[in-house]
Amino acid sequence: MNILVINSGSSSLKFQIVETDQALIDVSQDKVKVKGLIDRIGTQSVAKISVTNGIEIKEAVPIRDHSAALDYIFRKITSGTLNIEGISSIADINAVGHRVVHGGEKFSNSVIVNKSVLKEIEECIDLAPLHNPANLKGIEATLSLFGEKVPHVVVFDTAFHSTIPEVNYLYALPYQYYRRYRIRKYGFHGMSHRYVSYRYRTILNLEREKLNVIVVHLGNGCSACAIKDGKSFDTSMGFTPLAGLVMGTRAGDIDASIMDFLAHKEGVSLSDIDILLNKASGLLGISGLTNDMRELLDEEKEHHDRRATLAINMFTMRIKHYIGAYLTEMGGADAILFTGGIGENSAEIRRRICDNMQFLGLEIDENLNKQKCFGAEGEISTAGSKLKAWVIPTNEELMIARDTFRCVMKVPSP
Ligand code: ADP
Repeated sequence: MNILVINSGSSSLKFQIVETDQALIDVSQDKVKVKGLIDRIGTQSVAKISVTNGIEIKEAVPIRDHSAALDYIFRKITSGTLNIEGISSIADINAVGHRVVHGGEKFSNSVIVNKSVLKEIEECIDLAPLHNPANLKGIEATLSLFGEKVPHVVVFDTAFHSTIPEVNYLYALPYQYYRRYRIRKYGFHGMSHRYVSYRYRTILNLEREKLNVIVVHLGNGCSACAIKDGKSFDTSMGFTPLAGLVMGTRAGDIDASIMDFLAHKEGVSLSDIDILLNKASGLLGISGLTNDMRELLDEEKEHHDRRATLAINMFTMRIKHYIGAYLTEMGGADAILFTGGIGENSAEIRRRICDNMQFLGLEIDENLNKQKCFGAEGEISTAGSKLKAWVIPTNEELMIARDTFRCVMKVPSP
């Protein structure tokens, strides 16, 4: 089955066409045929398409909106010049899978799109005012190109966390605000946490109920997830993706009173402070240099920049904080799984996070740690380590393709 996977942002549209024909996650069985990104939709758009056979396109083209972006993509794909195996017309697309950021409390699984699902996604706009409208634009664009004959599936970032118990998802605010406004922890990066933990249990041949791990997703956005008995039990992002770990530009956890204090002192609004916490804080805010971990590590090495080191140390210390918290919440875990751009590629950051954790039974094998970069998957702890550490490159698109396949074929989630 050829599945078009769409990740639609407010002014961007990322896509992949994945061929998948079985419900189990065995990455080697899946084939990404083509992928690409249309960026800056509505202004100076740039289109990038790369085909598995090595053909690449990069061009600046005027693209008005998401529907025009999709028309452009399929004009290129079906023109015959890209030689994509098995795809010569839009009729070769069997289903479409969409990433949707927020499913609120309504969606605990991926579902086939119909009118009531669309309405419910719209109702979640209140909870994700930037993301859900952008995701809906992508859905509207594919519905108008493919019509309703091709099944459309929505896969939610929040759904995996629907199993978090209320003791972990509630904030200690007056309870009526949960009742009235559904203010609670929702958690994000659900597809990544789910993929990485599922991949680990596939490699180790574990039953779902036997899975007790902490997944640490470290990209531009970062979150940790405690997976107990195979289910999300707690996660570090909250009502929005702002909470928890120190991220590229997000502060993560802070004392909420700082917002009012700072708004007063700076003479700005609470919305301005919200933007500051999301866009100008984290690694960027502390270092004053960059939100890019590679650049910070270079600054530290080459110029001994004090604030670059401080930013990196705050980043790794917060992760230690969450690992410690989750181990006690869960009553212990079997492994820590690293993923995301930083988690997959930086042996140095992983070393610092796992440093001084022998008392928990965690011991890193320096050689294995150095080898597991740039797409390599596997264990980085020593054979004798009681608490294991692994690197598992994430693949959210594959998760969307697999969920789409399962929803269309009515195969239960493994
Ligand atoms: P996103 O959350 O936007 O998908 P990624 O998962 O691609 O982001 O992660 C981006 C982060 O990964 C950046 O901070 C980048 O510097 C970092 N990164 C990528 N490669 C390396 C590396 N070799 N060493 C350290 N950090 C890296």
